[in-house]
Amino acid sequence: MNIDSIVNGVVIDHIKAGNAMKLYELLNLEELDCSVAIIKNVTSHKMGKKDIIKIDADFDVNLDLIGFVDPDATINIIRDEKLVEKKNLSLPKELTNVLRCKNPRCISSVEQELPHIFRLTDEKNRIYRCIYCETKAEI
Ligand code: ZN
Repeated sequence: MNIDSIVNGVVIDHIKAGNAMKLYELLNLEELDCSVAIIKNVTSHKMGKKDIIKIDADFDVNLDLIGFVDPDATINIIRDEKLVEKKNLSLPKELTNVLRCKNPRCISSVEQELPHIFRLTDEKNRIYRCIYCETKAEI
């Protein structure tokens, strides 16, 4: 894989330095068969240092998940080596089936068919809580 050029794929740019591995794990990128490049500590005029993830496949990224981990990241969709779409993220108000509640006594841990829903309760500090038991979301 040429690091600089992707034919069809997704580039997650402007990731806060250090967050790329978190995203890699949460997005389950290790399960992909295609090339995935993680470029860490790239010098950025805007951010000082940043991370970049390049996925060499038409991968449907979970924007809520990325917005939760790093709302300042940008998503670039590449087709035929051209940038066809740039998506900015925002802090999602609600996360459904993105994270699991860590409280073993939570109803969502007991009842398998219940969706795991976290709601943004504190926008400034980016705090999400389980809607069932109010446990804080952690990554
Ligand atoms: Zn819970």
